Amino acid sequence: MALRFFNTYSRKLEEFGPRDPDSHKIDIYTCGPTVYSRAHVGNFRAYIFEDLLQRHLEARGFKVHRVMNITDVDDKTIVGAHEAGVPLTKFTQQFKDAFFKDADMLRIKRADEYPAATDQRYIDKMISMIGTLIAKGLAYQADDKSVYFRINKLPNYGKLAHFNLDELQSTGRVKHDEYDKEHIGDFALWKAWDKQDGDVKWDSPWGPGRPGWHIECSAMATALLGDQIDIHCGGVDNIFPHHEAEIAQSEGVTGKQFVRMWLHCAHLLVDGQKMSKSLGNFYTIPDVLGKGYTGREIRYALIRVNYRTQLNFTWDGMKEARESLGRIDDWLERLREVGGDKKGNTKIEMQLGHEFEDALDDDLNISAALGFLFETIRQTNRAMDESKLDGETAARWLSWWNRINQVLDFESDGAELPEEVAKLAKERAQARLAKDFRKSDELRDKLNALGWEARDTKDGQKITRRAGA
Ligand code: AMP
Ligand code: ZN
Repeated sequence: MALRFFNTYSRKLEEFGPRDPDSHKIDIYTCGPTVYSRAHVGNFRAYIFEDLLQRHLEARGFKVHRVMNITDVDDKTIVGAHEAGVPLTKFTQQFKDAFFKDADMLRIKRADEYPAATDQRYIDKMISMIGTLIAKGLAYQADDKSVYFRINKLPNYGKLAHFNLDELQSTGRVKHDEYDKEHIGDFALWKAWDKQDGDVKWDSPWGPGRPGWHIECSAMATALLGDQIDIHCGGVDNIFPHHEAEIAQSEGVTGKQFVRMWLHCAHLLVDGQKMSKSLGNFYTIPDVLGKGYTGREIRYALIRVNYRTQLNFTWDGMKEARESLGRIDDWLERLREVGGDKKGNTKIEMQLGHEFEDALDDDLNISAALGFLFETIRQTNRAMDESKLDGETAARWLSWWNRINQVLDFESDGAELPEEVAKLAKERAQARLAKDFRKSDELRDKLNALGWEARDTKDGQKITRRAGA
């Protein structure tokens, strides 16, 4: 099946291939975190979807170049630094560090580049783009000294969001700080310095100030990936105004189509509402880890539903994630026992088919892909129950698993036990080495009480979740 995705721009499923069919190169730009607080699980749903996209494209043989920006200057970061009484860079650094720590915990592959909006190279690019937009009559400096994009001048403005400009006009909503814009929908490209900004300012031909959030992404995207990008992603809340504005700015400057394919993921909800900082209904990754869950369990819970479907975050969902991973772990262990150390032969492995990848080709249909995996587990487990699975077949399934696990990254690495459990497990292993079986049994009971099981195999102690725990 051909690779196809739902393009937000056309609202249609479209066949997708690289710009240059011979190059196999795909450039992806993904809107990254605004580092004014720790990212929450909702944000990570977007990043996990992008991770799945990248890994699947790579599994299909494409060379992906992915850029994710870090928004380290905007209204929220400035207010946060001011309230904390620390310089902006110090304030944002802690959240940048936390973001990478959390992303690693969820096994999200690193992007190739993480440009920061405050990097002088990109500030220069933003200023140069704004200059071009003014020269083309697409932007103007207002009485408040800020520079705004003139949306009326761009016939395509509103096409991504399927937005009618007249509706925007007729609402008559005028915020107190927008009094001097020509059109209510005109958005800021350059925000003139205000005393609340403190020492956060850069020089520009329009006076000291700072960039608007939208121009940051247009500048970093085109600086690093050129005038045209294959795929641009974000959450649905980014469609308007952020991505609409990115198109207006980038196409306004280059005159070329900015993005070939727009992909947006639906929200992660809590009790039917978007998980968000402002609603206060959010959990951070450490919050969920604090409840005894692991990074790979969060990964599973966030990846398992198609990215265009809303997903409710619940503790039952986390438990289901744990159970599903437990089923995979048990299956792998059984296959390894049956398969011994026979290595799967790639030539034979190809005969196992590509149903998993084919499902993902269809707009990342992860539910179908996982459905195929669990049906495979059910059938092979039954064959093993009946002693009908020979070692060579088991080895082939293991080899198939290794292939699809490049995309899923679900396998336990044993290093993700909660701290307390890891400590007890280590003590127990030592007690067994010292042949202190009474102590080792006591430690087994303690592990049991925490919901973990210690089994002694020929390869040493194995710690797994107790069924139903
Ligand atoms: P922000 O840091 O607010 O700019 O958001 C970073 C990314 O997370 C953006 O792509 C948002 O669209 C996305 N996002 C924010 N909240 C959610 C949510 N509840 N579910 C899914 N994605 C979200
Ligand atoms: Zn962006």
